[in-house]
Amino acid sequence: MSKSYVIIAEVRDGKLRQVTLEALESVRIAKEDDDLISVIVLGHQISPIVEQLSQYVSGQIHVIDHVDLETYNSEIYFTVIKGLLDNLNPHAVFLGHSASGRDLAPMIAAYLNAGQISDVIAIEKANAEVIYTRPLYAGKAFEQKKFTDGPQVVTIRPNNITAANADTASSQAEIITIYYSPPPSLRSIVKDVIRKTSGKVDLTEAKIVVSGGRGVKNSDGFKPLQELAEVLNGAVGASRAACDAGYCDYALQIGQTGKVVTPEIYIACGISGAIQHVAGMSQSRIIIAINKDPEAPIFKIADYGIVGDLFIVVPLLTEEFKKA
Ligand code: FAD
Repeated sequence: MSKSYVIIAEVRDGKLRQVTLEALESVRIAKEDDDLISVIVLGHQISPIVEQLSQYVSGQIHVIDHVDLETYNSEIYFTVIKGLLDNLNPHAVFLGHSASGRDLAPMIAAYLNAGQISDVIAIEKANAEVIYTRPLYAGKAFEQKKFTDGPQVVTIRPNNITAANADTASSQAEIITIYYSPPPSLRSIVKDVIRKTSGKVDLTEAKIVVSGGRGVKNSDGFKPLQELAEVLNGAVGASRAACDAGYCDYALQIGQTGKVVTPEIYIACGISGAIQHVAGMSQSRIIIAINKDPEAPIFKIADYGIVGDLFIVVPLLTEEFKKA
């Protein structure tokens, strides 16, 4: 009998987050040919997103578009999703391992009485067995897990699994618009969202991260890093020492007690490479370190190292990339 796989799409600032397409690809790996895919997308004025999703999904797209859903709210989102899951009777639900995904996943797992595997960075299927890999001990070890039964809830770490390609070969998506009925009572509401970002690109989804440490010396020291990030269409991150020193906001902090990033390229500028920092960026595909101390531990994990003063090296890189 065919099984039902559900993906909870993620929308932020009127855009579909890339991790949704990564979750879709994960489902394509996990499911059997005749299993069904349904995507749930909530938000406000999301027709362009539904249009975009329809190019990727051969299955159903359940859409609820209402002003109450413009900003993520656990209670409202969970109530709405719960109602949809009752009808979809999922074998598995996939979400991004993002702030909202991490919030929703355990509630969904408890509701469905499901097992949960979180923070998945790779999925393999061999002899009909689906194996999920997730990092442990700040990326020093990896655990491979499988479900013995359903229902299942899986969260996917952004930027690790290849995003789904547009599905031109398969059947068209069936778009199902659902009427929003507000929960009868709410114990919490979102009053305001105060954004602290480093630029146009979301740090956890950026393909390129330019990160600064104590070596940038002060908040002005971040300017050359911001310029480089802008030229590369990347995001700016930071070590905790840089945040603690007040050079930048804590929203930029990468590491054990900050954000985990896995970009294609991570450029560490004036960062020594303490284990707590490495925990948040060691899974980056290519690591480039710029540090004036040739003995800095960051060079042990770097693919490319530049021994030099970041205030000379970073502007040179920016100039070169501008020409490219
Ligand atoms: P430093 O270690 O001081 O290194 C600065 C580097 O800049 C040096 O290597 C120096 O050679 C280089 N430098 C100086 N000037 C220049 C220049 N002009 N050009 C080039 N290079 C230059 N840290 C995190 O980052 N993230 C975390 O989430 C985190 N969580 C923690 C949790 C706990 C429980 C604890 C105890 C610590 C945590 N830390 C975390 C702190 C961590 O241990 C380090 O103190 C911190 O990462 C060091 O930051 P840094 O590399 O910027 O500074």
